[in-house]
Formats: sequence, C-alpha cells, structure tokens
Amino acid sequence: MSETVYIGIDLGGTFVRVGAFDQQGEMLAVDQAPIEARRGPRAGLARIISLIETMLAKLASQGKRYELAGIGFGSTGPVYPKTGVIDNPYTLPTWENVSIFEPLHERFGAPLTLENDADVAALGEYWMGAGRGVKRLYAVTVGTGIGAAFILDGRIYRGVNGAHPDGGHQMIDPSGPQCYCGLRGCWESLASGPAIARQARARIGERPDSLLLEMCSGDAAQIDARMVAQAAIQGDSLAASVMEHAAEHFSLGVANIIILFLPDRIATDIDVMVPARQVRIVPAQLGDYAGLYGAAWSVIQKVNGTSL
Ligand SMILES: [Zn+2]
Repeated sequence: MSETVYIGIDLGGTFVRVGAFDQQGEMLAVDQAPIEARRGPRAGLARIISLIETMLAKLASQGKRYELAGIGFGSTGPVYPKTGVIDNPYTLPTWENVSIFEPLHERFGAPLTLENDADVAALGEYWMGAGRGVKRLYAVTVGTGIGAAFILDGRIYRGVNGAHPDGGHQMIDPSGPQCYCGLRGCWESLASGPAIARQARARIGERPDSLLLEMCSGDAAQIDARMVAQAAIQGDSLAASVMEHAAEHFSLGVANIIILFLPDRIATDIDVMVPARQVRIVPAQLGDYAGLYGAAWSVIQKVNGTSL
C-alpha cells in the first residue's frame, strides 16, 4: 500500500524551500535552493519542479511507496490564489503575471493551492506550531519585510476580492521613511531587518567609536541588522538605541493589531514590549519552516474538501 505525501513550497525573494509532509503533519524531507529571480520565472519554476522530483525520488528510494496527493505553494505577494498567478516584480524581479498552476499541473497532475507567504506562515503555526487549536490567531514574521496574517476558525481571513490585507504596511509614523508601497512610515519600513540596518547606517556618524564600524571594517554600507543586534548585545550604545527605536515601532504595530482584532494569541518571532491582558503573545515555533507547513496544510485542506 502506498502512503500519501503532500508537498509544501515557500518561495521568497532569495531562496525557495520545498518540504514533503504526511497528512498528520510530519515533515518527511526538506530542501532549498537559490531562486535567482532575474534568470526568469521559467528557470525558477524548472528549479522548483526539479527539487520536487528529486525529493519524491529520494522518498521512493527509502523503501516505502508514496503517492503525491497535492502541492501547496506559498509565495511572497501579490499572489492570486484562485487563478494560481504570482505578480511580484518587487521582490521577484521578472516574475510578473506568472502562472504557477500551469507548469506544476502539467508535470504532476496533483491538486494545487497558492497563498501569500504571510498567510501560509500563519497557517503553519496554526496547524503544527504556536497557534494550535486557537480560534483567533494573528501571526507576525519579521525578515526582509514584516509578514502579518490573521487565521480565524482555522481559515485565512481574506479581504475584498480575496486579497491579503497587508498588515506589514500599516502606517506607524506618517513622517517616517518612504516605503516602496507608496506610503511613509509603514510598519515594515521602521521595524524590519533592512529598516534596522538603514537606521544604523544613517546614524553611524553620531558615534565614531561604535563597535559597528569595527564589525563592518569601516564600510558603513555593509552594516546589516544582524550586526546591529550583535553590537547591541555587546553594549554598543548606538546599536542599542537603533534596536530600541525599532522595538518601540514594532510594539506600536502589535498594539494596533490587538486593538483591531483582539486575537486569542499573537505568534511572533520577535520579543514584544506590549502589556497585553487578554491576548497571549507567544514565540512562533516553526521558524523558517512555518511557511512550508502552512503551504502543505492549505492543499491538504483542499484535497479534504475544506476550502480555506
Ligand atoms: Zn509600505
């Protein structure tokens, strides 16, 4: 007898991850590769298909028989879940109006889903992580941007026309830095990794004795968020001030979410300074794999007739 296997895909601006899961949520295999978006969507999709083929072949070589029952795709947005189209030239240059359903269906013939990456990360935490069994889960993921998604009764909360409400672009400071979305002082332009690096670079002149200058070998353009966090831990006052500033802005965004949604739980990969009485703020549990779990679960739901 063969066992069913589901593939979850998490496509970001730099890497694509692929994971194989059973229906109970056990991750059977995981792999990743650079996406090199500039080489074009055709090359990118060929790479993704080859990652899946290699993974299925490896699983088959372990003696059990596996049958591919579905592929769930999570991608940095904008994405169109109904038509299976990714339209994201911002973080995936050249990926404009790209159908991912067509080539995947042609090669594998299995049921497919496509969701925004913040939504699949939240779904993953709901399925197998920090939000298990919770009626109202809000998930916040900080990286190159801020991903924010709301899961209500186990389903992705969708806006008008099925669009993903982009909580990462809630306005925190109208006099803040210009964001690529057109607004000023968005949450992710103040509290994401690149925002922290940008603020440290802009303020490095205030403190010629800062540890950061040593860390970047005198080239301020090389400063990244990881360096700023490390320098802050080592007691560097400039780095600590930049981190504190970002943390304050991050907490303002979380406070807005609490006011607007009053979720049972907020799962996040960042420490928060908001005093919350009813809402539990908990660390996310699945780390870099949250999106893979959620993508797999979205297609498991589809196969089982529970539309998200
Ligand atoms: Zn924005």
